[in-house]
Amino acid sequence: MIVNTQTLLERFLSSTGVSTDTRKIQAGNLFFALKGPNFNANAMAAEAIEKGAQYAIIDDADYLAGERTLLVEDGLLALQALATAYRQTLTIPIVGLTGSNGKTTTKELIFSVLSQKYHCFATSGNLNNHIGVPLSVLSIKKEHEIAVIEMGANKQGDIKELVDIAQPTHGLITNIGKAHLEGFGGIEGVRKGKGELFDFLQASKGVTFLPQQSGVIQEMFSERGMQNAVYSNEAMPTTLVEAKPMVRYALASGEIIDSHLPGIYNFENIQLAIAVGKFFSLSDEQCNTGISTYIPNNHRSQFIKIGSNQVLMDAYNANPSSMSAAISHFAETEGNPKLVILGDMFELGESSAEEHAALGKLLAGLSFEKVLLVGQHMQHALIHLPSAYYFPDKFGLHTWLQDHPIQDSFLLVKGSRGIQLESVLAFLENSK
Ligand code: ATP
Ligand code: MG
Repeated sequence: MIVNTQTLLERFLSSTGVSTDTRKIQAGNLFFALKGPNFNANAMAAEAIEKGAQYAIIDDADYLAGERTLLVEDGLLALQALATAYRQTLTIPIVGLTGSNGKTTTKELIFSVLSQKYHCFATSGNLNNHIGVPLSVLSIKKEHEIAVIEMGANKQGDIKELVDIAQPTHGLITNIGKAHLEGFGGIEGVRKGKGELFDFLQASKGVTFLPQQSGVIQEMFSERGMQNAVYSNEAMPTTLVEAKPMVRYALASGEIIDSHLPGIYNFENIQLAIAVGKFFSLSDEQCNTGISTYIPNNHRSQFIKIGSNQVLMDAYNANPSSMSAAISHFAETEGNPKLVILGDMFELGESSAEEHAALGKLLAGLSFEKVLLVGQHMQHALIHLPSAYYFPDKFGLHTWLQDHPIQDSFLLVKGSRGIQLESVLAFLENSK
């Protein structure tokens, strides 16, 4: 017999949480067997129960094995429906955020700020998709006073699906840029897709935090006739002092605050996080402590000293907007001989050749000591930049670095996740 969402909710409320991975099962969990292109977790149901799961939720009747396996029509849809139902039992504010770049960074900053006053929940890592958002919602506990949920999208309709699950009471779009152009069908498509968060906030009369400097996002807000706006730099005005490379900002009083985040673009993320903190009644001091104590990780906006070199490590992801922001910032930052190591930008579809060529053009107008390009798509950048060093993959780069040790230099390392440019660290370390 197929179990319904109400039954799942009852089971969930008396469980210790949800798991979709038998390696991470904890006693008393509900295990959801999800199917992927290369796996069918229904086959893991018995193992999940053996490892302590209270129930395994499966969608293939062949794997029914007693009372502790619960059959649903579709495991993923059941997980999403459960998260939606659980969300309706929660009464805390939920801040939903999306954007082309800076979602995770801004989410972490908001978390760091709000945690100065509240018991705050935030999406863990980058769990921002159709599986990650329901899992995040289901991780909110009774004792949490406020939650921050990151929402990612590759195409139209993705954000709608996620806001229907998380039902944010407050929301923000960090920025609209050239990311996932393939699935969205160009920049207008990105604007429309991210706008699904605003559609939800408009209908539910939620509060929107608006980045002060983004005309596009403010336009998206006003063209919907939305009302509840909080502008990012109003409650506690800040000004950028410098980003060399870390952002240092000043308060109206003249007090200076140092962050651990490089790049002017991160100042925008900081201002948004402060706006959220002020809205939820934190003091100026609490907001600034939240910002100044946040240290980025995961090769995202990190500043690393290695051997005699300094590295701006940004190999977590890349797209045309974040790439040009990072490069322009790096070009303006003072430092020793500056080298850039850049990898392919993925998911650009038919605009890929054009965008990589445009990147080559941008680089050709700047004077870096060396430009090292990695990946098949980067070949298109060479048209404007024949002097660049080019490697079809990271292994070619590694060999080159072994033969040409880099010393006393300042490097920007950035590329899409799949290119794994963080691997260069091992080769910089070995440079004598
Ligand atoms: P994902 O789509 O992988 O979830 P994300 O939106 O969560 O990405 P982050 O992981 O926070 O983004 O940041 C990724 C990179 O984007 C940063 O390291 C930085 O290079 C760039 N970035 C961050 N904020 C901005 C911004 N406001 N404008 C442009 N680029 C930015
Ligand atoms: Mg992210």
